[in-house]
Amino acid sequence: MVFILRSYDEISGDLLRARYLLPGESGYCDMCRRVAGYIGACDEEKNEFEEIMLSKKFLPNSPTLMNAGSGKGQLSACFVLPVGDSIREIFETLKNSAIIHKSGGGTGFNFSSIRPSGSQAGFPGGKASGPVSFIKIFDSATGVIKQGGRRRGANIGILDVDHPDIIPFINSKRAEGRLRNFNISVMADDSFMRSPDDGILEIIAGNIIRNGEPGILFRDTVNRKNKVPGLGVIDAVNPCGEEPLLPFESCNLGSLNLSEFVSSGEFRYDLLKKSVRTAVCFLDNVIDKNRYPLKEIEDATLKTRKIGLGVMGFHDMLIKLGIPYESPGALQAAGGIMSLIESESVGESRIIAEEKGAFPAIGGSIWEFPVRNATTTAIAPTGSISLIAGCSSGIEPLFGLAYLRRHLASREYFIVHPLFSKALDSGFLKDKSGIISEAYSKGSISGLESLPEDFRALFKVADEIGWKAHIDMQAVFQDHVHAAVSKTVMLPEHSGTDDVIDAIYYGWRKGLKGLTFYRNKSRRDAVMTTGDGC
Ligand code: UDP
Repeated sequence: MVFILRSYDEISGDLLRARYLLPGESGYCDMCRRVAGYIGACDEEKNEFEEIMLSKKFLPNSPTLMNAGSGKGQLSACFVLPVGDSIREIFETLKNSAIIHKSGGGTGFNFSSIRPSGSQAGFPGGKASGPVSFIKIFDSATGVIKQGGRRRGANIGILDVDHPDIIPFINSKRAEGRLRNFNISVMADDSFMRSPDDGILEIIAGNIIRNGEPGILFRDTVNRKNKVPGLGVIDAVNPCGEEPLLPFESCNLGSLNLSEFVSSGEFRYDLLKKSVRTAVCFLDNVIDKNRYPLKEIEDATLKTRKIGLGVMGFHDMLIKLGIPYESPGALQAAGGIMSLIESESVGESRIIAEEKGAFPAIGGSIWEFPVRNATTTAIAPTGSISLIAGCSSGIEPLFGLAYLRRHLASREYFIVHPLFSKALDSGFLKDKSGIISEAYSKGSISGLESLPEDFRALFKVADEIGWKAHIDMQAVFQDHVHAAVSKTVMLPEHSGTDDVIDAIYYGWRKGLKGLTFYRNKSRRDAVMTTGDGC
């Protein structure tokens, strides 16, 4: 087979040209100037914003990059819409979700208000068709509407574990390819987790092993940690789970690229502090520059002014520092960095509040001093912006060291991770192409005993890292994050339902707000693939 080897820069350039650049823009710098110029309120801010974006230390979520200064102006990635039980309400929500998708945002819904299938509906003797039938309609509608003309909308459909239709819901994505535009998640509460229905847990775990879905959300943990309990109970999240939000709330995200804060083998905490402050100003400005797709969304969002500052390039940073992902040192680094981001972001939000006022709903919140934003932190998946920045995504371990990536629908690129390639060069290792070939065909270099043990530990990939280590990492970040953490717990190919059930309990006890899994090679239609192990 002949592969076309592509560098990170080439992939980033292709993506920018296909989806982000406006007419007349020739590349990344033009985009950064446009976005910084639109979001900055004065020259000093414009320059600071441009600098952290140009240096690839920070990027806002895709809708901000695509729409800022374009005349469209919808800048947020995350939305939650309420779903009622009448046809009028359900289709009103469908219409609203189409408007949000068109503007570039993703939508989360809890469908539990919809009466179960088979119950009384409409005229006497009429039978309700249940939540899953409506999710299918939402899914089809999403397939038709491209986000801002550039990508398809993302959705998450949530159902409470005690809804009578929970089993058909859990099985609704059993066959690969169904509900293609939806992630699904079961909303479990503490009483279910304390005395679960083992049958339901088995079905959840069985589907996860088959196809990576459903995810699971922990309602009581989400609400115990809700920063504004006075506004009501949170029962839904945005599509990738990093933002638990109230009905009609939206949130804009931004991510610091931790890899860019390492210089000469040292992590630059001083630079990080400064960048956090700049990023918080940026994200708070986005709230006021945003053109909201619906009046209800504008009202709900301006009440809490939530922003979600997080990180990407975490594994790349660890590699540069020589720390294996599955190690106490990595957990320590994660805790230290994220607690600093949390405290600095709150500090900056407090300073902005002194000048511009606290968020209006602060009276119903847990905050004891004025802050501008009800939440400041979240960890996004950074699926696209990490490609633009050329770093590992979010807090995920590397998927592979040499792999094929399907990109922009039709193209397939062969990618060798640049830090891996560089390490092979600087280690003066003979037979670089043989090592890369093994990394592709086996998906790992663990079997290459000729390579030093610490080198192999440093370059362990996602499915070689135990599920406990994945969850421990998610939990350390969650401890310092106001919203939530988007993370996929990667399971090795041979995992079974017992592993999944153990992992769900472990994550719940660790205080996670939710969990998402993927068993390696369980989907045929995967974005990234390594060889077949031959
Ligand atoms: N999202 C979406 N459509 C997509 C990808 C993402 O609507 O195709 C939304 C979704 O709410 C997700 C959020 O954007 O949770 C953040 O995703 P990610 O960090 O991957 O977005 P990026 O900014 O990298 O495009």
